Amino acid sequence: MRTILLPLALCLTAAAAPTGAVRCDKLLDVKTGTILADQTISFADGVVTAVGPAGTAGQAPPIAVHGTCLPGLIDAHVHLTFNPTDEGYNGLGVSIPRQTVNGVHNARVTLLAGFTTVRNVGADDFTDVAIRDGINAGDIDGPRMQVSGPPLGITGGHADNNLLPYEYHDTAMGVADGPWPARHKVRENIKYGVDLIKIMASGGVLSKGDTPGAPQYTLEEMQAIVDEAHRLGRRVAAHAHGTQSIKDAIIAGVNSVEHASLIDDEGIRLAKQHGTYLVMDIYNDDYILQHGAAAGMLPESIEKEKGIGRLQRENFRRAHAAGARIAFGTDAGVYPHGDNAKQFAKMVQWGMTKLEAIQAATLSAADLMGWSGKVGILVPGSYADVIAVQGNPLEDVTTLERVTFVMQGGTVKKQ
Ligand SMILES: [Zn+2]
Repeated sequence: MRTILLPLALCLTAAAAPTGAVRCDKLLDVKTGTILADQTISFADGVVTAVGPAGTAGQAPPIAVHGTCLPGLIDAHVHLTFNPTDEGYNGLGVSIPRQTVNGVHNARVTLLAGFTTVRNVGADDFTDVAIRDGINAGDIDGPRMQVSGPPLGITGGHADNNLLPYEYHDTAMGVADGPWPARHKVRENIKYGVDLIKIMASGGVLSKGDTPGAPQYTLEEMQAIVDEAHRLGRRVAAHAHGTQSIKDAIIAGVNSVEHASLIDDEGIRLAKQHGTYLVMDIYNDDYILQHGAAAGMLPESIEKEKGIGRLQRENFRRAHAAGARIAFGTDAGVYPHGDNAKQFAKMVQWGMTKLEAIQAATLSAADLMGWSGKVGILVPGSYADVIAVQGNPLEDVTTLERVTFVMQGGTVKKQ
């Protein structure tokens, strides 16, 4: 089942990581929901060494942080190289180098919004690998990243480019039909540096000519992909809106189901049984319906969103009430980067407590990424990724939309 893993380099290797301390007016313990007054977080080489009442920490005067501190947030489903204005035919005019430049910009925007870690699940070519490596080398600012590179999918499916007629012979990089070609694609993506494998189990909203609820990859193909990925120490994230594809993906052993829009009771039961995370992007429906057409999304895409947006939110409520594991993921790139935290209020509106929504973006997302104890928490051994908001996020979860302080690995990025 959930074997593995990660032999991944989890560090920002940027020149000498700093040593010091931050002193917070208040600190939210995301495990218990307790808010502690006047706390100091000490760190050495960018890693937390102690957390406790102010005055207990070492030598140098700490950085004073006003407001409520908490660990840096995690978005487990972003597309840093994509912008919402590049949907539909507009996207054909955006080169691979330009997508990389988009990613550099959006990485910084995301970090300054308080998201110090992300999982990038789908990018053209290996633009996301380059951005991750640039961040890790300290060349550019951005969240700690796990990246998938090009998503795997069937010919004509959600991962393919279906906008051009046959004579252009345009097939997206991740297209692979059949178990062995799909295994080859897993190996190829790993060769070029991905941390995880993203697959398209069902149709999608923003792709042309397919149906979100209809299965695309077969169970047999997904079993081959998961087997190959897990053997090589990589987790698998499956895009699946459709009821059957969600179940097939879980049975195949994927580590997370993305969107999970049309999940039914059987799918929820299977997800719980297998420990599969659900990453349900329940904010972006608002954006797509209000701004999608102006952003260039195809009319059929807007219609598809109308068909599943509300159902996804209702199913989020049912899955959460049933006790399924849920990690915070928003599909940023479909809506503007930096607005990631707008999803917290939706998660609360649709059944989570405010603490549960915050835990989805800290403890649960870290667990999904295999980085528990490193990110999404502030304890000795974790990265000194600290954010602060004004007010109490357990009273008003929208305070997370207005992050006033961001530290990453002990370096202040926003103050
Ligand atoms: Zn996505």
